[in-house]
Amino acid sequence: MKHRIIVIGPPASGKGTHSERLADDLELDHVATGDLLRQHVADHDELGTKAEGFMAHGELVPDDLVVQMLGEQLAEAAEAGVVLDGFPRTVAQAEALRDEVGFEPTDVVVLEVPEEVLVDRIAGRRTCPDGHVYHVTANPPAEEGICDVDGKPLGQRPDDTPETIRQRLAVYHRDTEPLVRRYDRQGVVSRVDGVGVPDEVYPRVRAAVDA
Ligand code: AMP
Repeated sequence: MKHRIIVIGPPASGKGTHSERLADDLELDHVATGDLLRQHVADHDELGTKAEGFMAHGELVPDDLVVQMLGEQLAEAAEAGVVLDGFPRTVAQAEALRDEVGFEPTDVVVLEVPEEVLVDRIAGRRTCPDGHVYHVTANPPAEEGICDVDGKPLGQRPDDTPETIRQRLAVYHRDTEPLVRRYDRQGVVSRVDGVGVPDEVYPRVRAAVDA
């Protein structure tokens, strides 16, 4: 059976990093709604214009916009196997996923990281315009402020400010934890200790999916 994996975690818990590795390892598609939304914002298209304010304030983009954005991709994902990164994030999104395309996850990986670690990761996070991610002390680029992969300048995400971090954590507790409890009742959740460098954490993620 094809894996249909959902990776859930608070901001900077490592969702993006580990979703990408899992997708590579298991030869699955990787669908990251945060990356897709940031691309729409960069393109200044209609969806990007609607989403930008919510994202900058650490709020979720309304469910209908996110579900619409994914459109056909969801049906293809349900069929082919996928790692969903940052979606669903609310119970309503999970219901849309189930009702509109019959997608039920085979595995839900929840990354657990204490709040003080998340705050430090977010404060030190630097990204390039193409989404390559660094940390000023834990994972610095070879040359300060420059992406190792494509030489582009590194910057901070507009939603990686101290005020927005608090809001994003509150939104996680309010909107996403109820979703985790729902998947818990379906018996598909594995909680993974997300503290450590990616090479320490990834084997735990992989083991959770293999179990
Ligand atoms: P991420 O890159 O996963 O941290 O997402 C960055 C921001 O994009 C979030 O704080 C939300 O504003 C928005 N976003 C990403 N995925 C979703 C989603 N499934 N539903 C609503 N908003 C989302």
